[in-house]
Amino acid sequence: MTFKGLLDRSDVPRLRQQLEGVTPARVEAALARSEPDFGDFLALTSPAAEKYLEPMAQRVHDLTLQRFGRVILLYTPLYVSNECTNACAYCGFNLHRQIERMTLTLDEVIAEAAYLKQIGFGHLLLVCGEAPNVVPPAFLIQILEALRTDFPSLSLEIYPLSGPVYAQMTEAGADGLTLYQETYQRDAYDLVHPSGRKRNFDWRLGALERAGQAGFRRLGIGALLGLYDWRYEAIALALHADYLMRHFWKSQVTVSFPRLRHTPEAFQPAAPVNDAALVQMMLALRIYLPDAGLVLSTREPAYLRDHLIGLGVTQMSAGSRTEPGGYLHPAEDRGQFLVEDHRTPGEVAQAIRQAGYEPVWKDWDQLLHESTAHENYRQRDAEGRS
Ligand code: SF4
Repeated sequence: MTFKGLLDRSDVPRLRQQLEGVTPARVEAALARSEPDFGDFLALTSPAAEKYLEPMAQRVHDLTLQRFGRVILLYTPLYVSNECTNACAYCGFNLHRQIERMTLTLDEVIAEAAYLKQIGFGHLLLVCGEAPNVVPPAFLIQILEALRTDFPSLSLEIYPLSGPVYAQMTEAGADGLTLYQETYQRDAYDLVHPSGRKRNFDWRLGALERAGQAGFRRLGIGALLGLYDWRYEAIALALHADYLMRHFWKSQVTVSFPRLRHTPEAFQPAAPVNDAALVQMMLALRIYLPDAGLVLSTREPAYLRDHLIGLGVTQMSAGSRTEPGGYLHPAEDRGQFLVEDHRTPGEVAQAIRQAGYEPVWKDWDQLLHESTAHENYRQRDAEGRS
């Protein structure tokens, strides 16, 4: 069954509604389980669990130490282009926005990457909008081939592609694909994606499966928090992550928590997510999916990111610029969104050390892949984990 089939069959609206009836006793029972199932995850996501964030945090702290140790992977995005043919209401690259458009040449990408390598990054995330006439797959392949010897890990955050083209990307050196569904609720999705290829919800929904089949060894999902009720998104994300982990158990699955904070003036998030809700969502997902990577970007402020070290986060971006060419020639008004954590990568690394963790600048997923974590998951799956 495809994930689309599973999502349709799961009836997320009904599951979301059931959260309102969860009792404190049910939350406590979920916390007492050594291997929580999907029903326990739902309990931990419920309004009743809001009063249990402390014991959830303790559980998550122990779990994350056990599965991932005291390490946080650092990465940074490299924006190739801010051209886009879509009109996503929340995005600074929306084609209707009056910003200076720019696409880096191959030499300019290499120069930005060289700068990031000299800082210490071994893990880059290549990002572009959806403008395949300007940034075609062939150009992305050229970039990957040019960077692969210098970077142990190259991930993509780009427009959805077909399976065969994803396979070309992995052959060229890409090992990770991040693609957020934005929202898993179709009406909310339609509302904020009024035109362009991105209107195709199902094509986007199937992208991670195509990528998994094409051999990407890291698959990143996320919902843009604020577009719709966060509990609905959490349920769908849990289903999606679990599906990908079951079907592509050789790949590391990560969940990101991009939260809408500063949006274009004409756009107000329909369902803003506060700090407590964000934390509850992360804790519940970590408890249910102990082997999933959890990613927190510089969209979040320093104080919150520091607080969440040790509470399930396994990857953090640092020193991010969201405009093409932004590391060597910063120009915030060309950016996709405003970052909240303005610290340098070195300062973020120092904060991680101060919290008792080790910042890792190169890819460590291979280690994880070979560790017992994935094997554990596979075995539990084979044993019929519900
Ligand atoms: S979110 Fe992505 S697809 Fe949408 S306008 Fe921004 S860059 Fe384009």
